[in-house]
Amino acid sequence: MGTKKSPRLGIRKMRQKPKILIHEHLDCSLRPRTMLELWDKMGFDQAKIPFPANVVGPWDNAKLASGSERRELRLQAVQNYRKFLVGFASKSLANYVQAIVDHILPLMQSQPHLRRITRDRIADAKNDGIIGMELRFAPQLHTMGGLSLEQVMDAVVDEVKQSPMPIKLIICSLRHEDGEMAERLADLALAYNDHVGGFDLAADEEANPGVLEWWIPEAVRVRDESKGKIELTIHLTETRKPTARDEALIDQYGIRRIGHGIKGNWSQVREVCPTSNVVTGQVASIADHPIDSFHRAGDPVTVNTDGTLFTEVQLSDEYMKLQAVFGWSEADFLQVNLTALEVSSFSSADKAKMKALLKAGYLS
Ligand SMILES: [Zn+2]
Repeated sequence: MGTKKSPRLGIRKMRQKPKILIHEHLDCSLRPRTMLELWDKMGFDQAKIPFPANVVGPWDNAKLASGSERRELRLQAVQNYRKFLVGFASKSLANYVQAIVDHILPLMQSQPHLRRITRDRIADAKNDGIIGMELRFAPQLHTMGGLSLEQVMDAVVDEVKQSPMPIKLIICSLRHEDGEMAERLADLALAYNDHVGGFDLAADEEANPGVLEWWIPEAVRVRDESKGKIELTIHLTETRKPTARDEALIDQYGIRRIGHGIKGNWSQVREVCPTSNVVTGQVASIADHPIDSFHRAGDPVTVNTDGTLFTEVQLSDEYMKLQAVFGWSEADFLQVNLTALEVSSFSSADKAKMKALLKAGYLS
């Protein structure tokens, strides 16, 4: 592990390397530019949602300008919006959630918008050298404009079908919900099991900590009825240490993947999102992140972005940080990708193709 010397990769080379991403939230990975375009279509409702003047000002002025001035003003608006969102969200977990509620969810309540946002995310993945992606979201958050859960799924699945790389969706139950919603989501996951590869429990771990008992029966039902096509994963120990009960339940139900999992000892595969943990204040810096010690100890880890909007990184940028701070080599990157592939929900034919691409793509 990392013993073989390999030359340091620059960002361009890193982007060309084949990569597997298994922990990414659709509603945390919008492009700020697309967000502004969609907001513009809907009308900036300043009374409802506060947009900074340095966003709306240049965006509106751009409409009156032309050529390079127009491009410059738009770029200014986009950059200021990104800065505002990241700055606001990184102040606290409550702000992070508020940013999603105010600035993102209103944009994700129609099929054309859901399709656009999914299409963008897939294009960004392609540009970053990603060869297989598991993309997660909570369909129940997109029904406020009158869409049914099925209409939400149809819009996202439409784009997934046109993806240049294999994509599996992960359906997220949310910690503040209940067994009744989990049952509806489990049925939804099963109905769309050609495209759904995972069932997750997400959202605020502080308010509703641990492995929640109402989630387990539905999660296990999804896995059983899909004959294992749908894998289970759970956001756990991102912000809190596990209890003995949590550990026992994870073992008892054979859950193989932990979302984040940066606190506690796990033999399960961790879906680690280093920059996200820095942004939300769980670790002070990448240098303080435990991912390297997990990896050196032989624990199975994967590297993920969690959401490219608030972390301001694509997966290649995460890799660049691990290379710079911990000296990760191509052999290390190959290993975390093979781990991700092994625990992913892609078909065995797709897995075989991706494995060949990974092996050819890295010095090992
Ligand atoms: Zn997450």
